Amino acid sequence: EIILAIETSCDETSAAVIENGRTILSNVVSSQIESHKRFGGVVPEIASRHHVEQITLIIEQAMTEANVTFSDLDAVAVTEGPGLVGALLIGVNAAKAIAYAHDIPLIGVHHIAGHIYANQLVQPLEFPLLALVVSGGHTELVYMQEDGSFEIIGETRDDAVGEAYDKVARTLGLPYPGGPHIDRLAHEGKEAIELPRAWLEPDSYDFSFSGLKSAVINTLHNVKQRGEEMIIEDVAASFQASVIEVLVGKTKRAARQYEPKQLLLAGGVAANKGLRKALTSQFAKSNIELVIPPLSLCTDNAAMIGAAAQSKLRKKQFASFDLNGNPGLDLELQ
Ligand code: ATP
Ligand code: MG
Ligand code: FE
Repeated sequence: EIILAIETSCDETSAAVIENGRTILSNVVSSQIESHKRFGGVVPEIASRHHVEQITLIIEQAMTEANVTFSDLDAVAVTEGPGLVGALLIGVNAAKAIAYAHDIPLIGVHHIAGHIYANQLVQPLEFPLLALVVSGGHTELVYMQEDGSFEIIGETRDDAVGEAYDKVARTLGLPYPGGPHIDRLAHEGKEAIELPRAWLEPDSYDFSFSGLKSAVINTLHNVKQRGEEMIIEDVAASFQASVIEVLVGKTKRAARQYEPKQLLLAGGVAANKGLRKALTSQFAKSNIELVIPPLSLCTDNAAMIGAAAQSKLRKKQFASFDLNGNPGLDLELQ
């Protein structure tokens, strides 16, 4: 079965053709980062305009690279939410037009389900599984009893991990998005600054990163006031150490309680070298299989949306032409 998938939830315009939910025939990603950089973050209006300009071209390119025609498609899938409403609408309308014109089923996909199913492009998924979702807008531990069922057992109470990375990076004067820069600098620095670990209640799988972010900002401020030199690499290393210790610690505890067959890492922050390494060594001797997507499938892309759409295609969970962009779409109701 062949699915054309479209993703326009934020600042990547992407289209992909996926076979049987596992094989990437094409995955074209057009990033707008350069257009948003000078504003230090994604500007919604600019994002929508870029999507409008790019979408047709990107879909054509994905179809050409995959060497398929519209008549080969079994469904067209699109990110329905969450994300920027104006950005989502561009993808949703493109998908509806294709579904209508070629009389093929339409499938709405939750963006975070997409991040999780990116792992299906690496390994067949085995249930029950646990997914650690770390992205620009989400930090969640998700338990999946079976294909297509999502239970959020823990989530952030304030900032998402990626958001904390980007804010700390901004304070350090690093370009947007700051996550990859902090990751790089962290490997050149030492854990010289004492920073808090937000464990919350002993039995909680929730996360909190705003306290850590404020602690970093306060430390920088104090150092500056004393007229001292700060070593940016050490700040990055200390911040990253706190983030990773909590993420890995809570994941380890959840894995003990839920006994999943697999542990999946998902979302843009899954590209983080320190986190990948820490999880790999933590689960090396465990009987839980750790699956981590390649870097190209961690940040936003349409291939992951096509992978997630496959289980909805199997169950014939199709969307009607009322499908709309939904910024508040609920993962657990998928
Ligand atoms: P969401 O998926 O929650 O809707 P999003 O789609 O905007 O949010 P993603 O594209 O999944 O987010 O991820 C982007 C985030 O990943 C940014 O915050 C970016 O800084 C972060 N990121 C990317 N690479 C790294 C890295 N190596 N280390 C840490 N963070 C990273
Ligand atoms: Mg992005
Ligand atoms: Fe994302």
